[in-house]
Amino acid sequence: MSGTYLGMPAFPEAAKASTKDARLRANLTHATHTIRDKRARAVAELDDWAQLREAGKQIKDQTLRQLDRYLLQAEAAVTAAGGTVHWAADAEEANRIVADLVKATGRTEVVKVKSMATQEIGLNEALAAEGIAAYETDLAELIVQLGDDRPSHILVPAIHKNRGEVREIFAEKMGEWGRPAPEGLGDAPAELAEAARLHLREKFLRAEVGVSGANFLVAETGTLVVVESEGNGRMCLTLPKTLISVVGIEKVIPTWRDLEVFLQLLPRSSTAERMNPYTSTWTGTTDGDGPEEFHLVLLDNGRTATLADEVGRQALRCIRCSACLNVCPVYERAGGHAYGSVYPGPIGAILTPQLRGTASAVDASLPFASTLCGACYEVCPVAIDIPEVLVHLREQVADQGGPGHRGERVGMRAATWLLDHPAALGAAERLAAKTRRLHPRKLPVGPAKAWTDSRDLPEFPEEPFRDWWRKNRR
Ligand code: SF4
Repeated sequence: MSGTYLGMPAFPEAAKASTKDARLRANLTHATHTIRDKRARAVAELDDWAQLREAGKQIKDQTLRQLDRYLLQAEAAVTAAGGTVHWAADAEEANRIVADLVKATGRTEVVKVKSMATQEIGLNEALAAEGIAAYETDLAELIVQLGDDRPSHILVPAIHKNRGEVREIFAEKMGEWGRPAPEGLGDAPAELAEAARLHLREKFLRAEVGVSGANFLVAETGTLVVVESEGNGRMCLTLPKTLISVVGIEKVIPTWRDLEVFLQLLPRSSTAERMNPYTSTWTGTTDGDGPEEFHLVLLDNGRTATLADEVGRQALRCIRCSACLNVCPVYERAGGHAYGSVYPGPIGAILTPQLRGTASAVDASLPFASTLCGACYEVCPVAIDIPEVLVHLREQVADQGGPGHRGERVGMRAATWLLDHPAALGAAERLAAKTRRLHPRKLPVGPAKAWTDSRDLPEFPEEPFRDWWRKNRR
């Protein structure tokens, strides 16, 4: 994934720092509570939400089971409609393909539609290394790019910034990237939006190359779909002469009829809207209308390996609505940067370790960045059982060893032996009951110390349960 996240500390250390940032916590609490309440109201309007959710789940599962078939169908349809399809096994290959395509146009700048896939592969950094400037045009992505920052939320990448901070970034940095912010810029949302509009407009009008992702790829016609709220996507998808779309292979859905389900699930779950303001669809190229050249880069980058895992593969159902982030108590306190990946929150905790593997300290820590409260599962519009995948991944991380898990494994082996030997277990229980007054309530050292810093160890009963049972119920 993106090189901008290289060198991040593992989740516990990153969260230790971010939870001390009072301003960040205030920004996050305000934003996530507002979005989650609105989402709940939007979802409650539909009597058939549960059925829609089940339909979304089933469509995704059925498609993933025959992914090869639908991808080939989509490739044939895109090609027949005048587009060119490229297959990228990993981030490096995808970046190479896009950079070569841009260079072939002779241009040195591109305008971008907000796209998680291009963030995942670190496209902007790869293009910059080739002398190509990539301009983000989504308002929140623009704030992140101008502020030399990293996104911290899937849908609202600058959720960690308040409007005063946004005003400062615009006033200081817009001039370095193009049209400066108006003199005396205030922090009213309308003023900030107008400054962004003026800054971006000149980029839209001179852009010859657009780069996008896609929310969906309809296999039967090879049609790509982008849903958005600001209209910047529509500009990037229609004004440039060349359009390059980088799309994860799991975005394919079989038919337009299937799309109908997701166009109801996604807006209500993400922005709490009944319908998003802009839904753009395009199929190859059309003479005299829109881009003259269209390239689709189909990205694997760990998805095939994820598909091979029977429990973990459900993460590929994700439609990136971000509802799970907005209800997560861990995300709300730690913020998105603590996850060390473009995918923060509950979905990041299960997707990133599958796409990148769990060899690094950051990735191995992510399945533990959760209380397993289950709020994420309840709101997920495609019913991804995130707690189930978290536990599954925790098992994998524990099995691969490491300092945090050696003691745990020794403890589990000892418990297995004891539970296999009832006489020894009974003797141990009696001894523990007799010496109960001597047991400490807190552990002074060791990994469990932090646990008992905020709770007392449970007290042993005067009499073990088995002895009580033998006396009273035999
Ligand atoms: S896991 Fe579910 S709730 Fe979270 S972003 Fe993906 S689709 Fe939305």
